Amino acid sequence: MSAEKTKKIVSEMEKKVKAFKVHYDVNLEGTINLNEIAKKLGFTIKEAKFKKGANHKIISGAISVNNQENEKLIYVNADEPYYRKRFTIAHEIAHYYLEYKDTEKDIENIDFRSNMNSNKESELRANKFAAALLMPKATILALKKDLNNNLNLISSIMQVSTKSIKKRFEELSCLETSSK
Ligand SMILES: [Zn+2]
Repeated sequence: MSAEKTKKIVSEMEKKVKAFKVHYDVNLEGTINLNEIAKKLGFTIKEAKFKKGANHKIISGAISVNNQENEKLIYVNADEPYYRKRFTIAHEIAHYYLEYKDTEKDIENIDFRSNMNSNKESELRANKFAAALLMPKATILALKKDLNNNLNLISSIMQVSTKSIKKRFEELSCLETSSK
């Protein structure tokens, strides 16, 4: 994916998260409460021990919507580290919001770890939405300023890895320069 295309997606996902916030009336200040957000969307989050799938690929997360049972679940791999789990949950929320929320059909979306980091556009969009949801622009830029860009402190407040925060700052600065 070209840098230009990625930038376009980052910018688009900023807007999508703003619309999401209004649509579900979710609080995007301070540490993002994913359980609360999932609940507003009607989802329950479940930690699961996954068997390795086809080709021994690791499953990070999944969405399952069963209308007949009136059941909406987000599964997250119980064996992955805490910050990764949070990112996966946000990524699954993104898939639901961006691709499925208007469908009345049952949904099965499975995310293998290797897939999530692929260059597939739907994965990139879900990742950028997840980043914008977990690290809202205003919050993260205020923290950057107040905490003198101390990534470890910002990470412990936002409950997101320092790597993700660094990437988010890079992408936000790209957006700033392009909008001038
Ligand atoms: Zn995905």
